[in-house]
Amino acid sequence: MDALEGLAREITCCTRCQLHKFRKNAVPGEGGVKLGVMIVGEAPGASEDECGRPFVGSAGRLLTEALARLGISRDDVYITNVVKCRPPNNRAPEEGEISACLVHLVRQIELLRPRRIIALGLTSSRTLLRLVGRRAERISDVRGKCFRGRVAGVSVEVCATYHPAAALRNPSLRKTLEGDLAAFLLGGLDEYLVGSDNRRHIA
Ligand code: SF4
Repeated sequence: MDALEGLAREITCCTRCQLHKFRKNAVPGEGGVKLGVMIVGEAPGASEDECGRPFVGSAGRLLTEALARLGISRDDVYITNVVKCRPPNNRAPEEGEISACLVHLVRQIELLRPRRIIALGLTSSRTLLRLVGRRAERISDVRGKCFRGRVAGVSVEVCATYHPAAALRNPSLRKTLEGDLAAFLLGGLDEYLVGSDNRRHIA
């Protein structure tokens, strides 16, 4: 059993926060780092809780299709969430739950050593940006931008965009989400990296 598998086992029996009481299955994450990229959402929903896999419901289908249009398979990227167990009634995870679960996400970053982490939505962006010493109050402040920093000794770029669930609720966001994913996954990053002289996507 490798370290990532061992961590997934730890997560499936974790009781560090109250969310363990409500889960059918914890959702550690899945995929690989062929592209050196992790994609991090907020929390599992009902479909994910049912089968223990991330992004398999309607928002997951949107993400999977967006990746496929870029010629990228789900196996090419590591997909996970900030918290690994479903909050009841799909409420947003509370700060205490996020703090309790952060140890797992940080360990995943340490093991997978991604060069880039795509944060989907405000909860994920805020949590990951905090790890690299940045603040995010609103998704509109950071969406489409990348921030460089170190997490668990790993040099990463945290790139923020909308959560696919937001694009489902508001289809006008879909094109922006897909454009961000294309930029973050396929290159041209200098244009998006905060601090780069070449950036043109930063207000
Ligand atoms: S959400 Fe995270 S910290 Fe809470 S029980 Fe699940 S794995 Fe553990």
